[in-house]
Amino acid sequence: MNVFLISHPHCLWHRAPGGHPECPERVTAIDDQLIANGIEPFLRHKEAPLVTREQLLRVHDAAYIEALEAGIPLPGEWATLDGGDTYVGEHSLEAAYRAAGAVVLGVDLILQHSTHSAFCNVRPPGHHAGRDYGMGFCLFNNIAIGAAHALEAHGLSRVAIVDFDVHHGNGTEDIFRDEPRVLFCSSFQHPFYPNRGGDTDSDHILNVPLPRDTDGAAWRQAIEARCLPALEAFQPELILVSAGFDGHIEDDMANFRLVEADYEWCTRELHEIARRHCDGRLVSVLEGGYALSALARSAATHIKVLTE
Ligand SMILES: [Zn+2]
Repeated sequence: MNVFLISHPHCLWHRAPGGHPECPERVTAIDDQLIANGIEPFLRHKEAPLVTREQLLRVHDAAYIEALEAGIPLPGEWATLDGGDTYVGEHSLEAAYRAAGAVVLGVDLILQHSTHSAFCNVRPPGHHAGRDYGMGFCLFNNIAIGAAHALEAHGLSRVAIVDFDVHHGNGTEDIFRDEPRVLFCSSFQHPFYPNRGGDTDSDHILNVPLPRDTDGAAWRQAIEARCLPALEAFQPELILVSAGFDGHIEDDMANFRLVEADYEWCTRELHEIARRHCDGRLVSVLEGGYALSALARSAATHIKVLTE
């Protein structure tokens, strides 16, 4: 089965100073691994469009977007969003518009070609960004923009977002807290950055906090016990995946002990649920993952399952 691989050269333009882990090489490492693993022939490449203002405004406040646009620094200079290490540089918005546009295109393509899935190989990531804030390397909430597009432009009424990044998808939770048409399932290290999600739960916000040193067996058990039954019961019309690979044992951004086989297992489970409930409709979006080799191997494994 072919998988749409959606990206844009401008996603490489967003840079932070020094040896920042959220670097353009993340995207190219995944591209290289897809070629090395022989997955390339099963991919259909698509260029990400610019997200439109209408699509952005479904998720973000106008004042936040305008402040970002007004705050673009001079070449060689950087602004920070959260007073920490979420940088905005000269070309960051061009990358962010394409990253969000990629997910919108992925949703459009998948809803037109129900037998296909898509992977958005984009940056900056998105799941920490809320309606009026950016943080955790995220400017716009790419996956939330895609989900809102599925609801508003395509009229879907049940969109599931599964977030297996090692960090809680606090922005996505904030955006959809009062939106029961979205089921949000997030497994994450806790307590840990962004220190959210440990005590919030509702019928459509399903948080699975796990301690540091969680290994593949414990991670699979938690997802199997909590996320998969909720997804089955929800009967999604579309599954979106916040695919962060920073829970890999080689990734020192956090302290999970996952390996490629764990991402393979999870992807297969999600793909099966998509097949049972929504003709296999699944759009996956790159979030974290900072150890380049582990990131590339994990993402390639994830995408390979989607081609099966
Ligand atoms: Zn992360």
